[in-house]
This record gives sequence, structure tokens and C-alpha cells, in this order.
Amino acid sequence: MTPSWETVIGLEVHVQLKTRTKLFCGCVNKYGADPNTLVCPICLGLPGVLPVLNRQAFALAVRAGVALGCDVANLTKFDRKNYYYPDLPKGYQISQYDRPLNRRGRLEIETPSGKKNIGITRIHLEEDAGKLIHPETEGTAGVSFVDLNRAGVPLVEIVSEPDMRSPEEAYAYLTALKEILQYVDVSDCDMEKGSLRCDANVSIRRPGDPKLGVKTEIKNLNSFRAVAKALSYEAARHAQVIESGGKVEQVTLTWDAVAEKTIVLRSKEEAHDYRYFPEPDLVHVQADPAFVAKVREALPERPAARRERYVHELGLPAYDAGVLTGDKELAELFDRLRGEGLAPKIASNWVMKHVLAAMNEKKLHASAFFDKTRRIAEVARKVEAKEVTGQTGGDLFLWILETPESASVDEHVRKQGLAQVSDAGALEAIVKDVIAKSPRIVADIKAGKTTAIQALVGQVMRETKGKANATVARELIEKALH
Ligand SMILES: [Zn+2]
Repeated sequence: MTPSWETVIGLEVHVQLKTRTKLFCGCVNKYGADPNTLVCPICLGLPGVLPVLNRQAFALAVRAGVALGCDVANLTKFDRKNYYYPDLPKGYQISQYDRPLNRRGRLEIETPSGKKNIGITRIHLEEDAGKLIHPETEGTAGVSFVDLNRAGVPLVEIVSEPDMRSPEEAYAYLTALKEILQYVDVSDCDMEKGSLRCDANVSIRRPGDPKLGVKTEIKNLNSFRAVAKALSYEAARHAQVIESGGKVEQVTLTWDAVAEKTIVLRSKEEAHDYRYFPEPDLVHVQADPAFVAKVREALPERPAARRERYVHELGLPAYDAGVLTGDKELAELFDRLRGEGLAPKIASNWVMKHVLAAMNEKKLHASAFFDKTRRIAEVARKVEAKEVTGQTGGDLFLWILETPESASVDEHVRKQGLAQVSDAGALEAIVKDVIAKSPRIVADIKAGKTTAIQALVGQVMRETKGKANATVARELIEKALH
């Protein structure tokens, strides 16, 4: 974007609530079951059935509102949003129109120029639709199937104010939103399972112009990166249209992630008229102020507060605190290691180095390490006490992952002879041998290239399978070459 344009972005995020059952019936709210196995007359919209509001879904929606600083409505109601689509069995979606549960919230994001608050217009409850499946197997051309397992699953729709000014801010907003919703346990926000979906509105205007430009809406964005890319593309397209004398049309678009461009789905003329009207089968709901106060009190610590605490109370570097709190489970793992008596920086080092590497390599969640913390702490203490080397510590960490909690670290170290060798007598022969085998490195060192000593230390470590005390080995090498 040229600096002569300002981008204005607002986001609508749909988030699936972590409930046991659906919003208005007793069907299980679960991902990955066989198609149409989690359905009943209510979520199939058969005649003569009546919806009943799920108390847990309501409580979670209140929790989302409180966590995002919203005013929770005293009185809220449900409305029918009418449209026809094959994945919507009733021909309407039960949503909230003029009396949403939560209004006027905010979310703080990090931008390159500092912290910024993004306004939240509203958070309302609604039910999800089913899913159309378009098979690509032979003989199924033009055939679509529908899976209604998701029909009636509880969602909150979180609508932001048009407060974001760049695709990067939209990305930061989504990251912060996901983090907070995971922390307060409202949703798992797993985009791959469709439990977080985002539509983005974008327009451009001249900086300082109080009037908003014509906006377009991009639907079905399936990753935060796609949101940022689509917004960049779309804002640049608006600028190009206007600068070449044209007018931006108010349209709904979809993002083609392969071609990396937006495609028009429908124009404003075809835009849906949803004919909202009050849902006659559901009563109005009053959120008792005492209930809201209880939800507020029971709210878990928010990531930003936890980050602050890690930095100011535990003395962790801001970088460590950011990485640890970026994943709720990772922060919990860190707390558990501290609970085993490790100093904050040491616990953090083990998480940031060994745990993250293992999580990436083995595709694990941090919770997979929860029942390993006693032994991980034991190994960390051995490294600190120089009973084993850092390298052996790393090997022991991997060994812990492969063995049950009952396997003793002490016994393994003893049986495998993994204790660190600091005894000069035991290392001298190896050092002598290494020096004899490396005349070129020795010549380099004698010529003044002292950094080459590290190469010899490395060889001693290899010879001892990582058990040598590196400091002692270095001293012996220096002494021998003196
Ligand atoms: Zn059902």
C-alpha cells in the first residue's frame, strides 16, 4: 500500500464453544465422527420439535464476553436468520440480532509501534450449520453430500470495530483473540477443525478522512496467514481501482489461496436479506448480575497478566515469557517444572530448548510432557550440579520420553555409565590421543588460532560420548599444548 492510502479493517470471527452437547439439543458436540451420526430431530429441524438452550454454552459465551471486557446484557434474546442453503436443515439459523449477549468490548494487541486497543462491537451466540461435501471420486460429478453433525453446534460470533489499520494488525488481533479464548477455555480455536473461522471487511481511504470507503468482505479464510495475505491483496486492489478512476463495488469475495487472489462470490444486489425475526420457540434470557460476577471472578489468569508476572516476579527475559505464555499448555508445563523445584530460568531453558524441539519433531502438544516433569526436573538438576554434561542431559531428556515414569534416572545414569567425567586423570589419556591424531589443528593453534581449541574439545566430547567435562578437557588441552 502506498502511504497515500489508509487501510481500514474489521473482522468477524466465529468460534466453536467447548461444550459437551449442541446449542439446542442433547447431541454430542464432537469433531471427526462419521457423517450424520450426531444428529436428532431437533438439529435436523424436523416438524414439531422445540429447542432448549444449553446452559453451558450460555455460560461460556458470558465468559468470552467478560474475558474481552464486554458489557453483558441483562436481557438477551434469540432471532431467526432466514436463508436457504442445503447445509441448513431448518431454512433458518438461530442467532441473535438486536439484543446480543455481549457488547462494547476490547482486545489489546501488540503492534510495531506499541500496544493498541481494538474495539469489539458485539459477541453473540448462534448455532452452526452443517457441512457440504463435494467428492472428487469418479462417477460423482455434480453430486454433493451433506453432513449435519455440525448443525446446531454452539458458536459465538465476535465482531470487531473497524479499528485495524493494516493486515499485520489483523494478524495480531487474531493471534491475541485465539490466545485469550484458549486461556479462558472457551474454545480450542483449532482452525483445521473449523472451530475458528474468520471473515474480513476491508476498505481504504485518504489518511485523515473521517468517512469510511466502500468495503468488501472476504469470506472463508482458513488461516491467519491467509487473512493477512487476502487483506493485503484486497487493499492494493482497491487502491488500483480508485487510482485508475474506477469505483470499488461492495461485494463479497472468497480467497483463492493457490492463485493468491480474491474472487467475487456475489454482488451487493444479490446480497442476502435475512428477514430476521424473534425466535418464537425460545424465551428471553436474563443474565443474572450475580452469575456474571461469578464468571468474572472465576476467570483464569489472562496471557498478558501471566507474561507480566513471569517477567516481573520470576525475572524471566521478555522473550522467554512471550514464548511460554504463547501456548497455555506450555506455560502450564513451565509452572509444573517450577513446582518440581527448578529455578525459573532453568525451567524456561529446558522448555524452550528440549521441549519445543521434541514438540516440533514429534508433533506433540505440551500436555504430553505433563507426567514427565518430575524426571525432567531431576535431569535438569543433574546438569546444574555437573553430575552429567549438558549433552548427556539432552540425551536423558529423550530417554525420558520413551520410558515410563517408573524408570529411574539415577539407575539409568549408573548402568549406562553416563556420569560426567571431570577427573583429569581419566581424561588425560583421551586428550593425548586426540592431540596426536590432529596435527593440523594443533599446528593452527600453535600458529595463534586459539579458536581451533574448540575443535579438539569437540573430539574429546565425541570420544567420551558427550560425558567429558568440557571445561576440564579444555584446560588439559591448553596445558598439553603450552
Ligand atoms: Zn441434535
